[in-house]
Amino acid sequence: MKKKFLAWKKDYEIEDSKESSHAAFSPSGSKMWINCTESWQHNRGYSEEGTEAQRGSLAHGLGEFCLRNKDFKLNTVLNEVVASFVIDEDMVYYVQDYVDLVNSYIEKRSIVGIEEKIFINDDCGGTLDASILTGADLHVIDLKYGQGVYVSEIDNPQLKIYAIGKLLASPKINRVVKNIFLHIYQPRHRGTKAHRVYKISKEDLKKWAKEVLLPAIKDIKSGKNLRYCSNEGVCRWCNIKGSCKQLTSKNLELAKVEFKDFVDPDKTIELPNVNKLSNEELTKIMDGIPLFISWTGAIRNELTARVNAGEDIPGYKIVLGNKNRAWNIPEKELTKKLVKAFKKESECYTRKIISPAAAEKKIRALGYNKKILSKYIHKPEGAPLLVSSNDKRQGVSTTAIEDFADFKE
Ligand code: SF4
Repeated sequence: MKKKFLAWKKDYEIEDSKESSHAAFSPSGSKMWINCTESWQHNRGYSEEGTEAQRGSLAHGLGEFCLRNKDFKLNTVLNEVVASFVIDEDMVYYVQDYVDLVNSYIEKRSIVGIEEKIFINDDCGGTLDASILTGADLHVIDLKYGQGVYVSEIDNPQLKIYAIGKLLASPKINRVVKNIFLHIYQPRHRGTKAHRVYKISKEDLKKWAKEVLLPAIKDIKSGKNLRYCSNEGVCRWCNIKGSCKQLTSKNLELAKVEFKDFVDPDKTIELPNVNKLSNEELTKIMDGIPLFISWTGAIRNELTARVNAGEDIPGYKIVLGNKNRAWNIPEKELTKKLVKAFKKESECYTRKIISPAAAEKKIRALGYNKKILSKYIHKPEGAPLLVSSNDKRQGVSTTAIEDFADFKE
């Protein structure tokens, strides 16, 4: 099996070095171009680059290899280097969990698709990580290896496009499927369940395609009825986030400031007193905070790029960031010196038990099921937190009246 893995690794590295091509309407960017049809022209052909995206590609590649080679044990290639990335304990753990998840939906009679090219027409399509058709149920599974941005499964347009592509691919699938399950598996995002599922009926999916997806593509292609839509989920990955007038005016309106006040150095900007805002005003501002933060990030990036490019911008300069101090001699030599001073070697080191998550990763890398640790783990309740009512977590009682409701007659 190792031989097979090494052959796969060679192929993967060759493919990885090639430039990938993308459909004009990419499912992964669909949340943006479906809602803000104006954004399409500014983001066309753009694809994610950088270390995180490459790490994600490797996780997908390994997942595919494991799903196609059932007897392969991922922990046997721990610390192997593929395309300059080390297959570390994290990757073994998360990819193995993804593979187990996909396998858990596969039955004898299932029709399975792995890393399958899916198109709804010549312009719109991409690669679907995994699909499983069992009877009338179609499961569409997407591995999200990023940890920074939470990806919601609810009405996820990327997964809906893949599901439509599956229905269009074969009249038989279209005939038998009744329920569609959209799965997101995002193991590295902290604080949420890694596996999330959203169920949608075939009728609702087709209705969405007819009323939302296809009209958006038609408008973009014809250049007619184009519209802007600015909200955090839509604008997050937009290339023109820092210069988009629509987004700027929405954010300034949110802060209740006129643009001319904002750029006038002699003007003191007065933000509204929060105690005096109504519930509706507070909610509106709260809804817009993520978008506002993301926009300020784009402003910082743009200004940094201009100063880096040599522009003289009064009031700003580039400095080196702070870093923590570090020892500058080898550990062995340092320990000798410290022991001399502190008299005991134990004084030179801190010893700490590893976290449940780290222990689970190590157990997994050894080839055991992480569940054997469950009986030693408990999850304490966190402090109360304000979240959107769309959040799936169970709301807690927040008033004494609710707490003592049972004591009422
Ligand atoms: S920043 Fe937002 S509103 Fe502006 S074009 Fe991009 S997606 Fe549309």
